[in-house]
Amino acid sequence: MDFDNENEFDFESRIVSSTLRSAEEDAENTLRPKKLDEYIGQTKAKENLKVFIDAARQRKETLDHVLLYGPPGLGKTTLATITANELNVNIHTTSGPAIEKQGDLVAILTNLSDGDVLFIDEIHRLPRNVEEILYPAMEDYAVDIIIGKGPSARSIRIDLPKFTLIGATTRAGQLSQPLRDRHGIILKLDLYTPDELKEIVTRSASILGYSILPEGAAEIASRSRGTPRIANRLLKRVRDFAQVSGKETIDAEVANFALTKLEIDKLGLDNLDRRMLETIIRDYNGGPVGLDALAATLGEEAITLEDVYEPYLLQIQFLKRTQRGRCVTELGYNHVHIPYPNPSGQLNFFSE
Ligand code: ADP
Repeated sequence: MDFDNENEFDFESRIVSSTLRSAEEDAENTLRPKKLDEYIGQTKAKENLKVFIDAARQRKETLDHVLLYGPPGLGKTTLATITANELNVNIHTTSGPAIEKQGDLVAILTNLSDGDVLFIDEIHRLPRNVEEILYPAMEDYAVDIIIGKGPSARSIRIDLPKFTLIGATTRAGQLSQPLRDRHGIILKLDLYTPDELKEIVTRSASILGYSILPEGAAEIASRSRGTPRIANRLLKRVRDFAQVSGKETIDAEVANFALTKLEIDKLGLDNLDRRMLETIIRDYNGGPVGLDALAATLGEEAITLEDVYEPYLLQIQFLKRTQRGRCVTELGYNHVHIPYPNPSGQLNFFSE
């Protein structure tokens, strides 16, 4: 196969993308759990958060600032909304790239009320000078602003209401140390297990008024790459197939049929994943290949490969990360039906 002409992957429109599409926003809000006990999985993060919320409520204090990190679509925004609901306070939502100037952030901060939650998605993308405003805001509930220019310029301090910042990031490592240190609570979200996703699919189906059998939910769950956002999206597409074929209930058969039609294999990999594995194998002898080189070959940003593609391929052990770069594992070779070279460099035609 000639890969050179096929480097333009359509990363945006893939159905198993874990990033949010704007057209999906309303639907996502409908499916968002509102309370902590409706939030499925993430037991460790959930249990800890519950203790901190209860403690803050008992002391009638503002909850400490929270940092949520993990790949897209795992429920960071949902957890922030739930936290505000559990605390019975308002939530104000913004994102790192949306705040361009210091003044934008000052305006948001001065509009908060006591106890409010300020949710900043993609907090690692805040411009550095804007981030500096956050330090005193988080620590002392105050901002210092400069009034006037030149020799007559002076700094005045504005007090802010006591608020809780909830920052979400796909990459805790990219956050500056001072910003990370100012979050008293740091919670990591992990990819979900197929059983947890099955529960999420069943819950979503009931909210949307679809009838689904456990086997149908399991079929969708196992192909959702550990990600609720993908599970919900696949559920809707499967439901389209069920409806058109006159089925009132989503069973394993129609789920399997629909997902096969959508070219999502049993493990939730689509053509792009398979081509990524094939590219590493054919162009880089299976690796190790550096992220930047791979990103250039695939026509995608390194950060997207790292945040969106790798976590799942690493979890199912099709890829491994070494100090010298990414390598496809024997399992990965088997999946794309390419013989795995044994340690002497010879192809092993019996590895499948
Ligand atoms: P993130 O902010 O991490 O990208 P979101 O919070 O927007 O992810 O979650 C994406 C969708 O997945 C939400 O609409 C929600 O319906 C669903 N979801 C996420 N986590 C859970 C969960 N633990 N239980 C049920 N549904 C969830």
